[in-house]
Amino acid sequence: MRIAFLGLGHMGLPMAKNLAAAGHEVVGFDVMPAAVEAAREAGLTGADSGTDAAAGASVVFTMFQTGQQVLDAYRGVDGAEGLLSVAASGTLFVDCSTIAVDDARAAHELAEAAGHRSLDAPVSGGVVGAENATLAFMVGGSDEDFEAARPLLETMGRRVVHCGGAGLGQAAKVCNNMILAVSQIAVAEAFVLGERLGLSHQALFDVASNASGQCWALTTNCPVPGPVPTSPANRDYQPGFAGALMSKDLGLAEHAVTSAGVDAKMGMLAREVYREFAEGPGAGQDFSGIINTIRTRSGEGSR
Ligand code: NAD
Repeated sequence: MRIAFLGLGHMGLPMAKNLAAAGHEVVGFDVMPAAVEAAREAGLTGADSGTDAAAGASVVFTMFQTGQQVLDAYRGVDGAEGLLSVAASGTLFVDCSTIAVDDARAAHELAEAAGHRSLDAPVSGGVVGAENATLAFMVGGSDEDFEAARPLLETMGRRVVHCGGAGLGQAAKVCNNMILAVSQIAVAEAFVLGERLGLSHQALFDVASNASGQCWALTTNCPVPGPVPTSPANRDYQPGFAGALMSKDLGLAEHAVTSAGVDAKMGMLAREVYREFAEGPGAGQDFSGIINTIRTRSGEGSR
């Protein structure tokens, strides 16, 4: 099967490599020439343009930063042909970028109007998951299109969940990350409070990890060094999941919360907390580094 893979960045290149390793003919393209060169060096076929890659492919994957980039590539900009107009009728478009639910739905509509099939299939698992083919895919689109894409997604990931119709993969992603942001802040606040009250990190961990405070932000991404040796806190908060990416995803959550008219006070507070974190020192730090901001704001010297 010939597959076009567009967007060969941190996530896209290792994902494309895993498809090629499974025996598919993968034609890759990125607007950054160095990324196409890296793909060629990895043994993939590099195309001269996105439309060259998409013409003649049965499946077109996109892994870009933003919804605008996806919509522009689908439609074409400044009179140039877009991916949808060069692809053979009935081509399956699978967008793995993390973008707004509304943009994902717009992309589905464009693809459908052009006679194609389409899925939104954002991922979690980060670069390590992309390299090791252990990503989790959250997929929106029809049953038939999901089943057509499933073997390819399983080549790149460990968990593939069909969340419902158009845009619902992105919906699952923003909902999950909103939970994650709120819970990471809650865990960090609890550790700082415990410190002030004289409670050791290990004692709080031993209690909360076996009680109703248990959650991923505590038991995997523990924001203090020690209790979970593999958590980013043990390596000076190197990501992991960078504050900049959490802030981006919470921006998408804010968009969804506003357009759905939901009273999501905690989620929107977390959006503000991580926006500031990402604009400051947290952009390149793991998002569990928020604990240091909380300590600073709690006036460390006032103890
Ligand atoms: P990245 O910036 O490394 O890669 C995106 C690539 O898309 C870039 O190389 C860019 O040049 C290319 N691109 C943009 N427009 C293009 C076009 N029209 N044609 C061809 N190439 C184009 O970003 P990334 O870290 O790989 O993330 C990609 C997406 O995955 C984002 O939406 C991100 O939010 C999401 N995501 C990232 C991670 C992570 O840990 N990096 C984890 C989960 C989800």
